[in-house]
Amino acid sequence: MSKIIDGKKIRNEILDELKKQVKQYMIKPCLAVIQIGDDEASNTYIKSKEKACNEIGIYFKHIKFSETTKEIEVINKILELNNDEYVHGILLQLPLPSGFNQDKLINYIARNKDVDGLTDINIGKIFNNKPGLVSCTPQGIMKLLECENVDVAGKNVTIVGRSNLVGKPLLGLMLNKDATVTICHSKTENLKKHTKNADILVVAVGKKHFITEDMVKEDAIVIDVGINRENGKLYGDVDYDKVKAKVKKITPVPGGVGPMTVAMLMSNVIASYERWSQK
Ligand code: NDP
Repeated sequence: MSKIIDGKKIRNEILDELKKQVKQYMIKPCLAVIQIGDDEASNTYIKSKEKACNEIGIYFKHIKFSETTKEIEVINKILELNNDEYVHGILLQLPLPSGFNQDKLINYIARNKDVDGLTDINIGKIFNNKPGLVSCTPQGIMKLLECENVDVAGKNVTIVGRSNLVGKPLLGLMLNKDATVTICHSKTENLKKHTKNADILVVAVGKKHFITEDMVKEDAIVIDVGINRENGKLYGDVDYDKVKAKVKKITPVPGGVGPMTVAMLMSNVIASYERWSQK
């Protein structure tokens, strides 16, 4: 098996399977993406979601509000989509422009359509080890490890970054699979001690080449979540070339975690659709 974990290849395999599944449906599943403002990175992410939807046969609905929209209009739209039985997934594209309350808006999304898995209810379910819609990036990381036959049970897993989007839900998912988890953040003292202890190191900080070769254990598995744009190029949070030489497995940026996030989103839309169609 290769040292480099190929997220694109695994993504393609997942999308192929989902495509076969969708072909059997009488009614097309539908994903609604709500965007506020015109953030450049968000535009790119939305396009890649649309592309994946087109690829597997999911109807893609893009609702774009201007930055000057009143919060109540967005809430009303979310409520309308919650009540539309032909919409199976709702996603609020983040980050929101300043002035919008992200937490409040996310929690208006019906939990069974919350395909980003970010409502309090769905995050809480992870920590109670109950089935629900699981946030896409952490779910994608677990899937990557599974596809690489990495059993996390009993392993020392260090997660750098404690956001609601990545670090916190991943902590729950890892615990549910019996990993011994350490979660680090900007107030962590002696970060290197924790990263060096990791059999599996997950980095979601948002700083180019933040993790250097001296901070990882030989034979570790390194999952780089970071996406940092510089002069039109993408970089991860890990100093890839040097760290790659030392570790057992590593995800590249681009082509590692990113493609998996989109694949898990598609998988969540289908899961949500399946539950709806069985009602
Ligand atoms: P946030 O900014 O929400 O969180 C960053 C985390 O890093 C925080 O917990 C912060 O700590 C921690 N941190 C910052 N500086 C340090 C430091 N010096 N030492 C240790 N920890 C530190 O980011 P996100 O989680 O949303 O995203 C992280 C990165 O992952 C970004 O580059 C983002 O673009 C990327 N990303 C990629 C995805 C993909 O699909 N590949 C999906 C989602 C994100 P504190 O909490 O104390 O502030």
